[in-house]
This record gives sequence, structure tokens and C-alpha cells, in this order.
Amino acid sequence: MDQIISRNPRTGEVLKEIPKTKAEAIPLVFERAKRAQSVWANVPVKDRARKLLHLRDVLVRHVDELSKTIHLENGKPEAEALTCEILPAVELLSYFATLAPHALRDKKIKLHNPLLRYRKSILTYWPLGTVAVIAPWNYPFFLAFGDIVVALVTGNAVVFKPSEHASLVGQKIQELFDEAGFAVDLLQTVFGEGDIGSAMIDQKPAKIFFTGSVRTGKAIMKQASQHLTPVTLELGGKDAMIVLPDADLDYATSAALWGGFTNSGQVCASTERLIVPEKMAQEFVALLTKKIQKLSAESDLGVCTMDQQKAVYEDHLQEAREKGVQFYCGGSLTENRTRMIPTLVGGIGIEGTKIYQEETFGPVIAVTTYKTLQEAIQKANDSRYGLLASVITSNISLGESVARELQVGSVMINEVAFSAGLAETPWGGVKESGFGRKHSELGLLEFVNVRHINKPRFSFLTFKSFWWFPYTSVQTSFFRAWIEMGRGGFFEKMSKIPHFLWCFVKFLKTDRRY
Ligand code: NAD
Repeated sequence: MDQIISRNPRTGEVLKEIPKTKAEAIPLVFERAKRAQSVWANVPVKDRARKLLHLRDVLVRHVDELSKTIHLENGKPEAEALTCEILPAVELLSYFATLAPHALRDKKIKLHNPLLRYRKSILTYWPLGTVAVIAPWNYPFFLAFGDIVVALVTGNAVVFKPSEHASLVGQKIQELFDEAGFAVDLLQTVFGEGDIGSAMIDQKPAKIFFTGSVRTGKAIMKQASQHLTPVTLELGGKDAMIVLPDADLDYATSAALWGGFTNSGQVCASTERLIVPEKMAQEFVALLTKKIQKLSAESDLGVCTMDQQKAVYEDHLQEAREKGVQFYCGGSLTENRTRMIPTLVGGIGIEGTKIYQEETFGPVIAVTTYKTLQEAIQKANDSRYGLLASVITSNISLGESVARELQVGSVMINEVAFSAGLAETPWGGVKESGFGRKHSELGLLEFVNVRHINKPRFSFLTFKSFWWFPYTSVQTSFFRAWIEMGRGGFFEKMSKIPHFLWCFVKFLKTDRRY
């Protein structure tokens, strides 16, 4: 098929047919991007940042149309499109417009050894070139938009591939940048499936910013390794929420409810594992079940975006059933197969199931229990993923001490998931959740090369360095004395100064003929 058919997952109605980009066209896309980037890289960062503010105005003008498009193509409630995609994008533009000029200024590095202070070091930043942004379908707007914005403000050009399940939203993103007056070819959106993503990698982009599944992440890294192309991988998760014994039950269950079921659980940072004190478990599960049953299918949950996801959900449920896991509520698709019913499972054997161990990426929470805090921490860490975790407690300092033991990229105390939308804080994972960081100054620096410049403090301080040829016994004694100075406490060091100075002066008097 030459077209990508964008459909409303709620009704099956065709929203738009979008021509697929041909793999043969990709080299030209990169060539054009390269030309545009060479001009853009010379635009002062302040002016690039100002462009973001203009883009923000354009985005705000299109809020209604955009939230509707996200809702129609992705199936999430319009309220979620607004709060979890467009609002964080507006905030991100404001934040990076301010941060970029500041963060990209040269930075001084102080050399700690006084003998080397006749020279100084600075870091300077320069754009990577043309980068590839390959995006998933679950937050089709915010995730891709954020990467593109930071790539552009740091002076790069972008070739962007939206998910084949979010092509219409991808097209809207391109339109926003066009309307905001970014130069032609600076951002180019290509449409298609994995083969188009793979064709992009063949063009040796300066870096690949990938958000998606672990499986695809591994394939991308393998292909990128052929050209030593660096990658940032934002992958899946199986996030745990630890409820501490002092937690308020009403608060904790509401947190789990949103953490597990926002965007119908199709969230990398979804609360998929709940770790509750054994003594609290029965009451906790009863209250959470009640709250789950109150969720409105239409206004709170939206529909499942794609069929493959339904298959994973059903497979995990089926296996859990076969293993005799307890279903507190949910456990199937709706009769018309458009929605995954919110499901809570637990009981004996839960930890040995796929629904507890693997990313379901659907509205499913698997509950397990613990007796001691160490057991809770060990259970939370017992996962091949490490994206985000939550701790719910009324004792914040205890929550923080638990947080410091969790092997994840982010921990939220008395909150869930939402830090993925914060522009100011780093977002990313450890273990199979990937590497590299989005957002914050750390995320911005992922989009630039760092150049270290080391220079004499003043031009009259340009002299032959101590370690240059010729190697002599006097030079060796001087370096031995220098090394000896590294050992011991303050008084021991002081006692070695006379010998060190004697060696130094002797060395300065040697004939340094070449
Ligand atoms: P996916 O891996 O199936 O696809 C992601 C993108 O990769 C799509 O654009 C797809 O066309 C492209 N692609 C597929 N094969 C490719 C290949 N060989 N070469 C290049 N590109 C290729 O993921 P998905 O189903 O769209 O998204 C869901 C996954 O994304 C979940 O695992 C979720 O946890 C993860 N995710 C992670 C984050 C995060 O920030 N860590 C955020 C959102 C989603």
C-alpha cells in the first residue's frame, strides 16, 4: 500500500490517507536537511530560542484542533490530549526558550593542580547536525514534539518519523513548525513503518532519538552500531508503586487509579505493579476495585489505539488465568473489542506471570504484598526495566530513603507518572528501559557535541611543557616528587614541599634543547 490510512480507533472511520514516504526518497530528505542545517547552525541561539516562543503562540492558537486530532486518531479522551500532551508542550517551549541560551554558553573548567593553572579549559557546544527522531503512538504529540523542539533550538535539523499509528498527528506537528516560519527542510516528516525508520538510520544521522519498545530499540541500536551512530533510547517500563504502611488509603488508591489507567494504561510510566503491605492488602484492593468500577469508559478511559496492543493484553490475561491468578475486576476486552476493560489482578503466584513481569501497556495493575520494607524494595527492583517508580507515604523522609534504593530513572513520592511531562527534570531509564535523558539541561546536552578547548591563560605563558622531550633523570626526579605530593594529609604534603621545589628548580635549570 502506498498510503497510510489514519483511522479513528473508536469507530474504524478513515480520518485521512497519507502518502507513505518511499525508502528511495530518504537520501534526498537527509541531503536537504543537511543544507538547511548548515545555515541554521549559524543562527545565534538567542534567535533560535525566540523562534520557540513564536511556535508557542502558533501552538496555542491551534489547541482545539490539535486536541481533537489527537483524540480522534489516538483514542484518548480529549481532556488527556489537553493535559498530558498540549499543556506540557507549551511549558516545554517556554522552558527551553529560556534554558538554551544559558545552557549553551561556554563553560569554564578549573584545573585543580596549581602547576597547571597557567593554562585554562573551557567547554563549547556545537550542534550534532541532522538528527533522526523516531516516535511511538501512545503520546503521539508531546514525545515527538519535545525532541524536535530541543533538536532545533540546539541548532540541528530533524528528520522525524511519527508512528504509523499516529501519522495524522505527525502531519499536524510538521504544519505547526511550518506555520511558525522555521526554514524549509529544517524539519521534515517522513511517513511509514519500521522500514522507513530503518532507511533513516542508513543515512547515518548525527544521532538517533528513539522512543518506543525494547524490541525496536535493540534493532535500532544494532543497525546504528554499523556506523557508530549514537542513540538515545527511551523504552518500556513495568513501573512499581510501593505503598508504605503509613499511607492514606484513599490517597494511595486514587494515585494507583490514575497511575494505572490514564491513557488506558498505554503509558511507558504506567503503574503496572503495586506493592502493598500484607496487612493492608485486602482493604486496599477492595477500595481500588470500587474506584476502578466508577471509571467512565467514555470520559475517563478512551479506547485502545491499536490491535497489536489488544493481543498483548489478552495474552497476558490468558496466561494469568491459566496460572490461577485472582481477578478482582476486569479481565477482557469489551464486546465490540474497542476497549480494554481496567483490570486488577493479584493473589498467589502473581509474581510468576507475564502480567506482573512484562510490559502489558494496557489498563492492568498486578498487586503483590510485602512484610518488610527491604522486601518491598527488593520486589520493586526485581525487574528488567527501570523507568519510574512511586512511593506513597505520609512520611516524606522515609519515602525519600526508599526512593534512594530504587533502580530507576525517576521516583515520584506521593505522585505517579507525571514527571515524564516535566520539561525541567530529566526523563529516561536504566536497565532495559533504555539510556540517555530527555528534558532538563541533561536532555538538552544530548543534542550537542561538546568541544573542550585548553589554552594558555596569557600568551606570554606559552612555554615548553614539563613532560615534553628530552626525558632526563632530573625530569624523572621532578615527576616522582610531583607524584609523591599526591599522597597523605595536609601536614604530610606540606613537609614534602621543600623537596618538591628543589626538584622543580633543578628541572627548570636543565637544558631543554628540543
Ligand atoms: P515501537 O517500538 O513498535 O515503534 C516505535 C517507532 O519505531 C515507530 O515509529 C515505528 O514505526 C518505528 N520502528 C519500528 N521498527 C523500526 C526499525 N526497525 N527501525 C526504525 N524504526 C522502527 O513502539 P510503539 O508500539 O510505537 O510504542 C510503545 C512502546 O514505547 C512501549 O514499549 C512504551 O513503553 C514505549 N514508550 C517509552 C517511552 C519513554 O519515554 N521511555 C514513552 C512512550 C512510549
